[in-house]
Amino acid sequence: MSITISNICIDCQETFNPRRAAFGYRTCLECGESRAQVEIKRKAKCTAPAYNKGAYQYVGTRQVALGVGK
Ligand SMILES: [Zn+2]
Repeated sequence: MSITISNICIDCQETFNPRRAAFGYRTCLECGESRAQVEIKRKAKCTAPAYNKGAYQYVGTRQVALGVGK
């Protein structure tokens, strides 16, 4: 009896390094990385509104500061 670890990517259906499958990955390195990028973008999107607001305020106050300086 042997346990077969599937090393077929669930995203692109291509085989990947069995050692990667042994670590519990179900995607090839490429798909795993693109998934990670999606996760990063998703998180960035969540924090974007607050960050942009801060950036606008920073630009605004900087322009005011420059105007006052001249
Ligand atoms: Zn893949």
